[in-house]
Amino acid sequence: MTDLTADATAIEQPGAADRNPAADRNPAAPGGGRTVAAAVPPSLVSRLAAGITAAGEPALVETVAPLTGELLAGLPQSTPADVEVAFQLARRAQPAWAALPVRRRAAVLLRFHDLLLKRQDEVLDLIQAETGKARLHAFEEVLAVAMAARHYGRAAHSYLRDKRHGGALPVLTQAIEARRPKGVIGHISPWNYPLELSIGDALPAFAAGNAVVNKPDTQTALTALWARELLIEAGLPADLWQVVIGDGPVIGPAVVEHADYVSFTGSTRTGREVAQRAAARLVGASLELGGKNAMLVLADADLDRAAEGAVRACFSSAGQLCISIERLLVHRSVADEFLARFAARTRALRLGGGLAYGADMGSLVSVRQLDATVRHVEDAVKAGATVVAGGRARPDLGPFFHEPTILDGVTADMAVCAEETFGPVVAVYRFDTEDEAVTAANSTPYGLNSSVWTRDLRRGRKLAARLRTGTVNVNEGYAAAYGSVSSPMGGMGESGLGRRHGAEGILRYTEAQTVASQRLMPIAPAFGLDDRQFAAVLTGGLRVLKALRFK
Ligand code: NAD
Repeated sequence: MTDLTADATAIEQPGAADRNPAADRNPAAPGGGRTVAAAVPPSLVSRLAAGITAAGEPALVETVAPLTGELLAGLPQSTPADVEVAFQLARRAQPAWAALPVRRRAAVLLRFHDLLLKRQDEVLDLIQAETGKARLHAFEEVLAVAMAARHYGRAAHSYLRDKRHGGALPVLTQAIEARRPKGVIGHISPWNYPLELSIGDALPAFAAGNAVVNKPDTQTALTALWARELLIEAGLPADLWQVVIGDGPVIGPAVVEHADYVSFTGSTRTGREVAQRAAARLVGASLELGGKNAMLVLADADLDRAAEGAVRACFSSAGQLCISIERLLVHRSVADEFLARFAARTRALRLGGGLAYGADMGSLVSVRQLDATVRHVEDAVKAGATVVAGGRARPDLGPFFHEPTILDGVTADMAVCAEETFGPVVAVYRFDTEDEAVTAANSTPYGLNSSVWTRDLRRGRKLAARLRTGTVNVNEGYAAAYGSVSSPMGGMGESGLGRRHGAEGILRYTEAQTVASQRLMPIAPAFGLDDRQFAAVLTGGLRVLKALRFK
């Protein structure tokens, strides 16, 4: 990596401290839309909170609206005993649901798709209020969920239908591979894409005949609860989707303790713990974890498209996106030109927090994310990196705003080089050869997403085969692969286990069961044959099958 930054000072850029703060700060977006208080009134909070499994007089935890810092909601917290109750209710409801024909279950997803598109403004307000992201980025969630609902609504039947296989003895044995639901899925989701990551992964679980106990992050529980309400309106039996919330290290393990399968999205650190607990119980788990994703700009790339793509790839949801790009590897021959175009676009991004379209980037979700972002930028600058764009928190816009930031001259000793920032910060590195770029791209333990920019699609696809990531986007940052919901999506290495989307995205929620039936004669000596004769007949039979290329 150090090699790649050998001439990191090629572009003369002043450090953050030297710049005129008023002149080059990102502009504020026009306001507009409803206020958070109007969009999320107490009546809505208490209606949605009624969907949380929490008995007695539960403790309330307050959440804050990141855009303004004002109080958003007081939410009842579930206890481990409530989690047990949630699993009991879900387990009771699941067999009747599993007994329905797949098409009846899938029809609920198709109705949900239509309702979601119709009622999207309600959930866009909620996502913005809970996460602070720009409305355009909240809409990405609506889009992703609608596409998943439609895909599994239409394709669940073919993914799940019985498959005939050649049996042990041709004609005499018939084998059918059937897919049975796991039972009750324990589904743990983070705050960053609260609609997509609560319901997006639950939809195929329901289509496959399961119930789900979901633990969303408390900060974004209202969005998950809204999705639950809508899915019930679309026809899902209410007990089939239980929502529990509470302290992650307490309620998360309680969910894993009772689940027949665990679907987890979150950090690599927590993912490891979840995997260990699931392994101890011998239940399966899919883990969608962190990343330190690279974008490669080859010498023949369309630099304007690449610069625009980089803005989307690095700063969507203020970089709080697992597949977001945090490392930009650019061929040395085009690096200066690319960086000039990328920096100009980045500086022009309008920051804002209205509950309306118009802002190009919103706020970070919390002081924790803001602190992590500031720490990465400040440490890098102290150790000699250069701020090409952004570089500062923006408390004038809201408590957790931070400018979209480009760093140059980042070296391996800086935290921002290899640690996931999960904020609006990207570091630029230069390379001379494709081999060098591939080595650098593959140099982290993560392996979630990567992006390659070139005018030669064949070259891009060939290069993809050398990248150790679960998704590779050619001439796009992340949306092409993530939006291709019939193809699997997930991480290699420390970015996870298993895949969402496509066949794996639904089959992970099933157990394969082989039902084999034997006809006419057993697979044992019969018709007066002794053991030796039986062995000779079968040996001959295998030779015949081989000669006929049957087996
Ligand atoms: P996190 O791991 O802290 O929390 C994720 C969820 O796990 C939350 O609901 C949390 O309450 C719960 N949790 C916390 N401790 C737990 C425990 N001991 N056992 C079980 N559950 C526990 O992650 P986060 O900070 O909320 O989310 C950001 C991380 O998620 C980033 O690293 C990001 O890259 C990753 N992420 C990955 C994907 C993906 O698809 N690969 C998508 C989104 C986010």
